[in-house]
Amino acid sequence: MKNVYDIVIIGSGLNALATLYGILQSKKKYKIALITGKPSFSVKYNHPKLFNDLINFKKILSHKSTLNDLFLPGNIGGLVFFWGEQCNVNEQNYLKKNYFKSKSFVSKFLELKKGKRLFERKIDNLNIFFNSPDRTIKNKQSILKFKKYFQKKCVLYHREALSIDGNFIHLDNKDKIFGKKIFLCAGLIGTINLLRSINNKIDFSFKDHSPKIDLVYSSKYNQNYKLDSIYSMICKVYSKRNKIKFYNKFYPVRSLEILFFLGKFKFLLPKFILRLKINIKNFYFVQKWGNNSISEYTLKDFSIKKKTNIEDFKKLDKVYNKLNLFKLFSFKPNFLNFHFHCLKIIINKKKISVNKFLKMNNSNIYCPGMLSQNKINCLPPSFDNFIKTSTFLKKKLNSL
Ligand SMILES: Cc1cc2nc3c(=O)[nH]c(=O)nc-3n(C[C@H](O)[C@H](O)[C@H](O)COP(=O)(O)OP(=O)(O)OC[C@H]3O[C@@H](n4cnc5c(N)ncnc54)[C@H](O)[C@@H]3O)c2cc1C
Repeated sequence: MKNVYDIVIIGSGLNALATLYGILQSKKKYKIALITGKPSFSVKYNHPKLFNDLINFKKILSHKSTLNDLFLPGNIGGLVFFWGEQCNVNEQNYLKKNYFKSKSFVSKFLELKKGKRLFERKIDNLNIFFNSPDRTIKNKQSILKFKKYFQKKCVLYHREALSIDGNFIHLDNKDKIFGKKIFLCAGLIGTINLLRSINNKIDFSFKDHSPKIDLVYSSKYNQNYKLDSIYSMICKVYSKRNKIKFYNKFYPVRSLEILFFLGKFKFLLPKFILRLKINIKNFYFVQKWGNNSISEYTLKDFSIKKKTNIEDFKKLDKVYNKLNLFKLFSFKPNFLNFHFHCLKIIINKKKISVNKFLKMNNSNIYCPGMLSQNKINCLPPSFDNFIKTSTFLKKKLNSL
């Protein structure tokens, strides 16, 4: 039979890359196919009900004041939506031996340029590191790189997977392909749609980080560290035992379009104001993430409900004080953070993990990566997660 593969990967973002790399590391020879999704895919046209709900919910507005199909990049290479400088890897993790090979692959692949250490401090029991941001490839460059790698390592289908029926994947051109093992790497919405094709009586819940923002003032840092040349400054706070506690991004106010922080109020302002950049030295917006600051979304019949849990950042306030940073006010912005994880299936009013659901319904399908993981830490997830996924698959592929 034509179109039969040992492994089919659905999706072509970072998770697909991590999955493919992990499988290739397992050293067995597999015939692999990868379904990329269609660049022209639009949530707006393919899922109008969902799109309207999201718009009404006003949670999906980008900082460019356009309505975006952010949930489903429909593109090769998940980096197309990166804000471009936020890998900021968790240095502590890579002391573990297993991670080295994957780390070096992903660093080279993403052309990671690590940020410079600006300064570090010990305050109470916390280790605090200030860096300039890490940088990586993005946009067109990343699409080309992903495409080239995928083409070299597997058979590519530039199509959208519409549904899965047993081991068959139905494509939008009416072709079907057979996968002995199928890996779902289609992002949040893509994965949800494919899971619904397995059982249409299910609902979903998932989690996303919920950062808070402070406006702070300090006359010290701009002069001392020549921040004029840096778009932003990263502050990572680790516990004594090297566990990441907070991840903070300092944006000098003058370098930002103000509208990024105005959320839905931006629509009340005249357009020329939206294009202004404020020019006030020594003020920073600090976007702060904590491990327990999480929103949980429940998606029932295509409408979304959100429950937010905001961690108290009191320990961070102490850090501000000792660093001579004065907090003026704090607020919770009204947008998504795109670190989707802990995808659960709601069936008969019970929540079960996505991989448990798959095991019960079709044990040849597996959902790897961040989306299916219960806990993620407060660092930008993609780089760390990539390494976890490929290391896991390298070791455990045969037992899945
Ligand atoms: C605006 C924005 C900024 C972000 N910034 C950062 C950041 O700075 N740092 C960071 O670490 N993370 C960031 N993220 C999060 C990061 O982009 C995601 O964690 C990462 O892209 C997830 O990778 P993924 O492969 O699971 O999914 P995605 O990147 O969403 O890729 C999904 C893939 O599946 C394909 N697909 C979907 N449906 C189908 C289908 N039916 N059939 C076939 N293929 C399909 C799509 O074409 C796409 O290739 C950002 C996200 C957004 C939206």
